[in-house]
Amino acid sequence: MRLPFPVPSQTGLLLTLMLLLTACQPSPPTQTRIQGKTMGTFYVVTVNDAFPGGEAALQQEVDALLARMNEEISTYDPGSLISRFNQGPANEPMVIPTSMAKIVQQGIEAGHLTGGKLDVTVGPLVNLWGFGPDKRPLKRPTAEQIAKARTRVGIDKLSLTKQGDNFLLGKSIPDLYLDLSTLGEGAASDEIATLLESKGVNNYLIEVAGAVRSHGHNSKGNPWRVAIVEPSDNPGAIEDVVIPNGMALSTAGSYRNYYELDGVRYSHIIDPASGAPVTHKLVSASVITPTALEADALDTALMVMGPEQALAFAKTHQLAVYLIVKTAQGFEARFTPQFAPYLQQKTP
Ligand code: FAD
Repeated sequence: MRLPFPVPSQTGLLLTLMLLLTACQPSPPTQTRIQGKTMGTFYVVTVNDAFPGGEAALQQEVDALLARMNEEISTYDPGSLISRFNQGPANEPMVIPTSMAKIVQQGIEAGHLTGGKLDVTVGPLVNLWGFGPDKRPLKRPTAEQIAKARTRVGIDKLSLTKQGDNFLLGKSIPDLYLDLSTLGEGAASDEIATLLESKGVNNYLIEVAGAVRSHGHNSKGNPWRVAIVEPSDNPGAIEDVVIPNGMALSTAGSYRNYYELDGVRYSHIIDPASGAPVTHKLVSASVITPTALEADALDTALMVMGPEQALAFAKTHQLAVYLIVKTAQGFEARFTPQFAPYLQQKTP
């Protein structure tokens, strides 16, 4: 199946590309579509109700929300709250806003649920392999460098407590490096959804890179549809079409953010257990949950697990999960019964 329009160029940095199938339709006056750059990637918000103040107000409020999130959780900004926490001393908890605490809490919970496959303290390893703000390595990190970075990793070294109305973020070692990059897009999608609903907008589609939230219907009165892209170099090729029906959908993949060193391909998904990028055949994982934050946490954890363990985990926890596995013949989609109702039936 092929889309009738080219892949937007701003998606080059993405792991997962989701295309709005409605994008090529002419918009009636009620439908407003804004887009922009954020978090080293892009966002698109389509609303099918009037936003108070119109398109300019929508753009301004979404951009302000995303700028605030950057100030809180961007490890790419040395002045952000998270960077100040990372640079700060051990055992001196820092007060953080509720919005940030919610993301940290999700990271900690998903870390426990997935047996440490998702680890929001994995930053030193992400950076060592050249997938964070640091430069790409010129050669493969040594076993000693990996072992050293691993001594700084582990959510047992991170604490989140509540004191009165305040959330306190603490660490037990000075050089712990909290990295919420994997959760940022999901959190942003959820926050934009909350903003829209607070303004009386109930028909919307929000896409922050691979994290999607939708509600209601599009300008044709149809449910929103989202494409899961084929994990190949073939621009515009899609694997399947999902109708999220008000649920959140998030996809992670290993096929867009990678580099090659001495003929070996390294992806940005790091297995905290080995301290190295994953090497298995699972190339894309999509999850449907009520919130994009939760889905965004789980998709990365599934990508760490690999095809068999990810499917077993999804079955145990009765999750709506869709995996794409590389095979000798090409790609194979494997999904749980919970995901099936969201798939658009293919026409023969
Ligand atoms: P996901 O699968 O959602 O996450 C993969 C990322 O999570 C990896 O890149 C790594 O950082 C981390 N990770 C890898 N393995 C694990 C693991 N086992 N457990 C937990 N985490 C893991 N990028 C830029 O290039 N420039 C920017 O200016 C920039 N600003 C940002 C600002 C904010 C507020 C945030 C949240 C991110 C920013 N990023 C920036 C990061 C960029 O968005 C990442 O490429 C993106 O977060 C990766 O998300 P993804 O959906 O591509 O992959």
